[in-house]
This record gives sequence, C-alpha cells and structure tokens, in this order.
Amino acid sequence: MAVKRVRGRSAARARPPARLNLARETLAARRGRARSIARGLARAYPDAWCALRYENPWQLVVATILSAQCTDEMVNRVTPDLFAEFPTAAVLAAAAPARVETLIKRTGFFRQKTKAILATARAVAEQHGGTVPDTLEALCRLPGVGRKTANVVLGTAFGQPAIFVDTHVRRVSGRLGLTLHDDPDKIERDLRELLPSREWTAFAHRLIHHGRRVCGARRPRCSTCPLADWCPRLGVTVAA
Ligand code: SF4
Repeated sequence: MAVKRVRGRSAARARPPARLNLARETLAARRGRARSIARGLARAYPDAWCALRYENPWQLVVATILSAQCTDEMVNRVTPDLFAEFPTAAVLAAAAPARVETLIKRTGFFRQKTKAILATARAVAEQHGGTVPDTLEALCRLPGVGRKTANVVLGTAFGQPAIFVDTHVRRVSGRLGLTLHDDPDKIERDLRELLPSREWTAFAHRLIHHGRRVCGARRPRCSTCPLADWCPRLGVTVAA
C-alpha cells in the first residue's frame, strides 16, 4: 500500500516537535498526542489491516503462529496447501507431524511451529469443540498461543478491541514516545491507556504498516513521515 503524504509537508516541518518534553508530558497531553498520531495513521493508511490471509479464526491462529520470524507473504504462500489438506482443528490434530513439517518448512523454525500448531489444534478440538475461543484468557491458555497471537485473533477475527505488540509496534510506539517500556505487556498496557478501545485494533494494524513502510528498524524515513509533527524520535540516531 502506498503511503499517503500529508499535503504541503516539507523536510523542515518534519523536525521533532521542539517543545516536547516526555519526562514532563502529562497523561492528558500524551493522550492528545496519541489521538493526533492515530488520526495521522488513519489518513496515511485508511485500509490497513492484517496482511495474513485467513477465512476463519482457526486459520488466523495458525497463520499467526507461522508468522513468527517469517514474512506474511511467505506464510500466505504456505497456508493454502496446509488448510486444503487439514481444513479444521480436529483434522489437523490427527495429522502426522512429518507431513505438517514438510508443508510449513519454508516459514522457518518448522519443527517448533509444527509442535505448536498441533498442540493448539488438539486443545481447540478437545477442549473447545473445534471452535476457537473468543476471550483473551481462553486464547492465552491454548498451547502455542502467546498474548500477541491471542490479541491478533481477538481484534482481527473476532472484532474485539485488542492491542497486539509485535516487533513493529514495539519499535514505533517507543520512538513515538507513547511508551517508555520494552516489555510487550507493559507496552500494551500503556497504549491501551492512551486511546479509546474502539480504536485499538486499527491503531495496532496501522502502526505495523507504518513500521514496515516508513519507520523501519535501520533507517526510518523521518523527513517524509506523516507523524513527524508528534514524534520525539526516541532512540533514532540515523534517519532518512
Ligand atoms: S519515521 Fe518513525 S521515528 Fe521518524 S518521525 Fe516517523 S514515527 Fe518518528
């Protein structure tokens, strides 16, 4: 998806906000800044959503587990054959591990991922009648499903408010000064405090898009960033 540029923005305007002192920023001021950032993200990426392809919550659980240390594009190449051969959690639960390993090999860490999705499939089939549960607590109790995956499924497949903290959300929210923590659970808690719950899921998806397209790990493109007016660029030493 192309990044929408804010009309009239120049490199000079893209400098960090001069008066932003995070140590003295009140919660109310940070909430106001977060709302501006959320609006900027919505303008830049109005249609941003999950890049993983899925047709139901179960498929999103599997795809999200497979996406660890792997691109969404590669996961999307692998899952059609996997879901065609093993269409439900119950069918996958009975699969031979070697066959699953072969099908998902290209996503990397395929032995651990096979164990994880087979254990999750068994739990969904045996404890939930084949239906993925729709609460954070129950999702987190599934073997192979961490809090990030649970929140992705909750927000994306079930339409419930959810903040998921992956590597992009962690990096970008830190640079934006929306959190001063490194721990994903604390980052999630900080972001939840800043925005109304109805905005959480779209906000998280848009942060991921922004991290992939503009605020990259090695050389963020601050001079053309649509969020530059509200960003203190914490920890940024080299920028384009
Ligand atoms: S690219 Fe990242 S660090 Fe740079 S201004 Fe934008 S959000 Fe901030």
